[in-house]
Amino acid sequence: MPELPEVETVRVGLNQNTLGWQIEGGEVLLARAIAYPEQSENFLAALIGAEFQEWQRRGKYLIANLSDGSKLGVHLRMTGSLLWCDRNTPVGKHTRVRLFVKEILKEKGKSKQNAVPKELRFDDQRTFGKIWWVPPSQTTESIITGLQKLGLEPFDSQFTPEHLQQKLSRSGRPIKTVLLDQEIVAGIGNIYADESLYLSKIHPQQPANSLNFAQIKALHQAIIRALSDGIAKGGTTFSSFQDIAGVKGNYIDTAWVFRRTGQPCRACGSVILRIKLGGRSTHFCSQCQKL
Ligand SMILES: [Zn+2]
Repeated sequence: MPELPEVETVRVGLNQNTLGWQIEGGEVLLARAIAYPEQSENFLAALIGAEFQEWQRRGKYLIANLSDGSKLGVHLRMTGSLLWCDRNTPVGKHTRVRLFVKEILKEKGKSKQNAVPKELRFDDQRTFGKIWWVPPSQTTESIITGLQKLGLEPFDSQFTPEHLQQKLSRSGRPIKTVLLDQEIVAGIGNIYADESLYLSKIHPQQPANSLNFAQIKALHQAIIRALSDGIAKGGTTFSSFQDIAGVKGNYIDTAWVFRRTGQPCRACGSVILRIKLGGRSTHFCSQCQKL
């Protein structure tokens, strides 16, 4: 599942490619990929004529500001991906939504159309991904309701060890499970939760509210480090993640524990273990991370 670094990689790619392109049509191949409006014809009709102005990220959500004051929201969930491709690229069996775009070149006060027809394509094998159109008259949170309860961004200056301590003190669940809760910190998923716990030498099963302040400070620092490293490497290669040009990231090659079951710990040489916690595979070092 794409997490903060993967979604951030996609956001950067979208900002490098789509700005100044205008939506002139499209095709919805899977109606339930569109979360709002309910009718996919209305979704396409609403978007025609709008130009991409800027893509932002909130947690694992991508949100585009469009020229008419409306917005386009995307959540990739398990297997979704956005691809920027030529319009004649063959449609794949997992292609769910296509947005046809044309480039508006503003020269000497006149608009001139670029000859190469492109599209922004949404592929999604497992079909949990969602796309929203947010009318100019509505707040983004009222349409994309999942945004309402999101915790702070890990790179927000308000995300401090004290803030994390306050959030963790409310739960006796295992720290690994709590880190996956988007109300605690936005954007962390299974990979970066395991990596952050390894870097802070915390056992994934330790109850969240039993962490002392030194551990919380270490965890706070580790979350920022793991996510920054992930962004620097363009996200992870495994699963279906790719950037908008279809290029895979390479974070996983240097992962500390994630998907390294049975391999030696990069610090102490002990074997990396895997357990199930809250239904999710959890990887950790039996020596570096003690209960
Ligand atoms: Zn170790």
